[in-house]
Amino acid sequence: MLVELLQSVFGFAQFRPGQEAVCQAAIEGRDLLLVMPTGAGKSLCYQLPALARGGTALVISPLIALMDDQAANLTSLGLKVARIHSGLERSVARQACVDYLQGTLQFLFIAPERLRVPGFPEMLAKRKLALIAIDEAHCISQWGHDFRPDYRMLGQYLPELRAGDDPAPVVALTATATPSVQADIVAQLGMVNPAQFIHGFRRDNLAIEVVELAMPARPAAIARLLADPARRPAIVYAASRKNAERLAEELSLTLSAGRRIPAAAYHAGLEAETRERVQTAFQAGELEVVVATIAFGMGIDKADIRTVIHAGLPATLEGYYQEIGRAGRDGAPSRTYLMHSYADQRTHDFFLHRDYPPVSHLQQVFKALGEEPQPVEDLRAASKLSEEEFDRALEKLEIHGGARVDFGGNVTLGGTGWKNSYTIQAQFRAEQFEKVLRFTTSSECRMAALVRHFGDVADASRSCGICDVCDPAGAVLRLFRRATAVERELAQAIADELRGVDYRAAGTLQRNLDPVGRLSRNDFDGLLDAMVRAGLIEIQEAEYEKDGEVKRFRKVLLTAAGLELRAGTPLNLLIGDGIAEEFGGRTTKSGRAEKAPAKNHGSGKLSAKTSSAGAAGASAPAPLTAEQEAVAARLKAWRAAEAKKLGVPAFVVLHDRTLTALAARQPKNTRELLEVDGMGPAKADKFGEAILGLCSGEALLAAEP
Ligand code: ADP
Ligand code: MG
Repeated sequence: MLVELLQSVFGFAQFRPGQEAVCQAAIEGRDLLLVMPTGAGKSLCYQLPALARGGTALVISPLIALMDDQAANLTSLGLKVARIHSGLERSVARQACVDYLQGTLQFLFIAPERLRVPGFPEMLAKRKLALIAIDEAHCISQWGHDFRPDYRMLGQYLPELRAGDDPAPVVALTATATPSVQADIVAQLGMVNPAQFIHGFRRDNLAIEVVELAMPARPAAIARLLADPARRPAIVYAASRKNAERLAEELSLTLSAGRRIPAAAYHAGLEAETRERVQTAFQAGELEVVVATIAFGMGIDKADIRTVIHAGLPATLEGYYQEIGRAGRDGAPSRTYLMHSYADQRTHDFFLHRDYPPVSHLQQVFKALGEEPQPVEDLRAASKLSEEEFDRALEKLEIHGGARVDFGGNVTLGGTGWKNSYTIQAQFRAEQFEKVLRFTTSSECRMAALVRHFGDVADASRSCGICDVCDPAGAVLRLFRRATAVERELAQAIADELRGVDYRAAGTLQRNLDPVGRLSRNDFDGLLDAMVRAGLIEIQEAEYEKDGEVKRFRKVLLTAAGLELRAGTPLNLLIGDGIAEEFGGRTTKSGRAEKAPAKNHGSGKLSAKTSSAGAAGASAPAPLTAEQEAVAARLKAWRAAEAKKLGVPAFVVLHDRTLTALAARQPKNTRELLEVDGMGPAKADKFGEAILGLCSGEALLAAEP
């Protein structure tokens, strides 16, 4: 009985969900792909079958630390384990081979590059393996975020290790595999009719809320949220160390039930001792809030975390999911908040460019390499790149096989395939962030969207019922209001328009049905979102190619319920309306936004997102004053002309949001210009002069008849 093995060897009372079926399949000798979240207990799913099958299991792992961890754990259970990796003495590796050949080992852990050592695969092939486990299998895929070229050649050695009858099953394990990565793993490893187990991603007790909030408004909203003791313990993820420190400070000054909130920052810049102290205090309940950069939470095993807040956009959905997953391990209801605005994109673009330097940098380093090993320092000194740029380029070259760095710090020329592989990975990273952006703007159930992202397509059809999309009325930060008469009328018109066609692009709908612009672009999108929530329409991301460029658009389709919609049907639409007053919405320090005529808002409502209208880096669209409207009109006219001249869509010249932000800010010089959301250096170079001219009063006077 499997349970007996589980209890007697591993000391666990019972299987966790999913584990038994996986073990069963592996014992029967089936190749399998297992995708379960971190901490779900994947290791057991190769360890137990290995013991049940008898003989030696080969475990391939990309990280020495992971290998050491698992080996130590198995050894403590009284099992016979050996490791072979570069951090160990040669004699240890030799002994491991001797033990392997004598058949006394139950587990042999190796790093993938070991298979390249001449004679090693042949040595392994002398005995029949019980099972081959490949941990962190996403590393094999170029579409995976931790792509490791050494994993890539695993597939070519496997047949040799699986010769004969009843070959060792290949068990591939990973926590993050989108459908394309899954397919890649199966293909690369040459898995035969593999069983695929993908589960455990849905978390029924996590209510996810995603809220658009300008950066400067976030600290106050977070402090007010966490002033409620029922929302603690909590982890807040900040984008930078500085932000983490500031937020922790602000929280420590916030009173909750007459006392200060016990909060601290946690990031990689702190002394190891301080970090240790923060972890321990949080674990023990002395600290109730930790404001962290991503470094925090790995070693945390705290079951009663009630809230996880992202004070900025995460870089990937994988990371995001792991971080919110730290809430509610005890199964009690917990809430997570993701705060974002257009300004987050700029931060990410910056990091992306830093972490993924241009191919030309890699090329420069590559050209300087030769068959003779050269010291890194010499190469760095001779390079035209800065030290930091050089190191980053070399790191990427090494990862993608264009350079080999030995332990003495000498570099030799590698293969030429790095360029393609690097380009694919850099693109992949950019796309990962786009997925985060789409997650924030989607009107699909948040949990369903995440579950689908992780490849559990079957489970993704069920809505969670508790996120801000499924249950707008239950949202804490986000505010919803009833649709206005104009909006209800437009909703009806949208349904009528869609009745006769397969779909319409969102942009086309707005142009056709609201030619005079009674609703702003944002408000029209808000209406579409509300219709999705009401089940009347469906929105699908789609793309087409034009002039060799991939363009994205949103397909709007009528649902069965929408088809039923007839003139006069009472519509109870809830429109997203910024954030609740108690968390800083609807009030502004200057009061300017409230006094300004809300021209763009057909409903006459005041934007709730205006608290930073005048601040640098303000991101949320704000109603403009009459003077600002005039500037916006100038900019629009110029944009139209410019777009025509360049033969590109208007938004390529300037995004609507950027245009509005420019009109609100009216920058006087390049520095101020660059502080406006959406104005990168490239745009500033190209259009800066023209924009500055249009924003200055002079140009206005000159242009006005
Ligand atoms: P993963 O590789 O999926 O991230 P691990 O295999 O490292 O997760 O397991 C996470 C933790 O869960 C480990 O501490 C492991 O001992 C524990 N665990 C695994 N299976 C069980 C089980 N059936 N019962 C109790 N604990 C388990
Ligand atoms: Mg693991």
